Amino acid sequence: MCKTSSPDEVFGFWRPTMRLALLIFLGLCAVTPAQDKPKPNSVGDVAGTLTLAEGYEVPAFSPKVGPYTAGPFHCSECALAKKYAAGASLPSPPARLWKRPASDVIDWLRDDQKVKSIVISTEHVVLLIELPAMPVKWLEPHEKAWLAAHGEDLRKEVSSHARAHLYVYRFLRLQAAWLDLMGVTDGPRFVSGHKAKNLGCKERGEVYVLAKAEVYRAFTRHFFGNFGPRSSWWYDIPTETVVAAFQAESVTDTAFHGIFAHCMSHHLLMQYRGFYQTLPLWLVEGMGHFFQRRVKGSEPHRCVLGVEMVQPLPGDWWNAIKDKVRQGAHLPMVKFGTVDTKNFALKPDEHVQAWSVFSYLVSAGAKELRLFIDELKSRSLESSLAEAQLKACERALGVSTKGFEDAWKAWVLATKPGKTK
Ligand SMILES: [Zn+2]
Ligand SMILES: [Zn+2]
Repeated sequence: MCKTSSPDEVFGFWRPTMRLALLIFLGLCAVTPAQDKPKPNSVGDVAGTLTLAEGYEVPAFSPKVGPYTAGPFHCSECALAKKYAAGASLPSPPARLWKRPASDVIDWLRDDQKVKSIVISTEHVVLLIELPAMPVKWLEPHEKAWLAAHGEDLRKEVSSHARAHLYVYRFLRLQAAWLDLMGVTDGPRFVSGHKAKNLGCKERGEVYVLAKAEVYRAFTRHFFGNFGPRSSWWYDIPTETVVAAFQAESVTDTAFHGIFAHCMSHHLLMQYRGFYQTLPLWLVEGMGHFFQRRVKGSEPHRCVLGVEMVQPLPGDWWNAIKDKVRQGAHLPMVKFGTVDTKNFALKPDEHVQAWSVFSYLVSAGAKELRLFIDELKSRSLESSLAEAQLKACERALGVSTKGFEDAWKAWVLATKPGKTK
């Protein structure tokens, strides 16, 4: 179904009843009057300079020499190897995956695809990972240190099992940065208490990482019926389960790490506050690029839906958007806000604008970003996306959509490049 030659992603609903009425609105946030006007910083690529979750370290398992009585995640392989003490304080393994007993999914992969998957459970997300071993030189020093501290033998390679731990480690760091960006956790950007279980969803999110494209296609076809060439994403309305699936074939580990970071930011955004709501695509993709650009050496990932994507992205995003704004050739925000996550893909230039507008919003402050997103998540089905975006601009920044666009344009023209490309 997808003809693209680029990495991409399919967004989809799983809606057996096709009744949008099943969407549950939590409506958690009281209306807050617009605060002081934002004082955005002057760096054009905030991803390279903004410190998030400063000082956060993925918690260690304890005691140092097992069996472990506590730790940040539960791993099916470690459980089999009896690394956990009886009654250990760990996130629980999933009883169900995608509405089925967890064993159905794991056994199908084993029997039909001859794939041995490792199931790792965290507080908010369950990850099923199947990646091959990789060279140790690809690890960042802090990643190597964390794995080595937990007894991994890294003399020859990062084993398949250790690589599964590596991706959970990366996920937990990304999640800490994401929560900090949104001001959800205590820290420099803390806004207010909102520590919902499963980030607000009824069920934990599910993330499937499969090494081979063929296995990924068979898996997504079998369980969901459709798929994007590199990554896919679904939301089950009755159970409020957010699911992401990836294949990691033919890309370096750094490239895959960038794709993973990009898509996990989408996943956390969808899971946040417990329901799916169509959002302006610029917000979702802008956030994805923001997180991808924090992974050193990674390439931009574009999420598209079944369209040809042959035009290349510009090499220098910061200057590209400056030129567009100078020429008045950018997309007006009133129009951009109506391109939603349901059926649309962005053109290359629009990806750059999405990244720039999101970076501006981030630079305006955690409170502004959080209010903006909360307002969009609170909209009723009756209101249009353009109307919701206007309300978000008014509530978060005290300006109209046009005022938001003008402030963003002024910021683009006044900024200097960040440390990243
Ligand atoms: Zn393990
Ligand atoms: Zn994306």
